[in-house]
Amino acid sequence: MTSSDTPTCSAKGCRDAAVWVLAWNNPKLHTPERRKTWLACEEHREHLSQFLGVRGFLKDVVRLEEWVQPEGSER
Ligand SMILES: [Zn+2]
Repeated sequence: MTSSDTPTCSAKGCRDAAVWVLAWNNPKLHTPERRKTWLACEEHREHLSQFLGVRGFLKDVVRLEEWVQPEGSER
């Protein structure tokens, strides 16, 4: 992630600036310490966290400015 471009929401078709980071892990694909991240605007945070939540993938929801990308993880 570069500092020059504003991170945008990961929801389909949404170009809003991201406010939230949703950290998730699919235990079938990823080692337990691995974190995939989705970005969400205020509007889509609920929707995206529900999507991950019902599958048991959601680990953490953090405000973008407080998010520290763990070593070795990717978007
Ligand atoms: Zn959005």
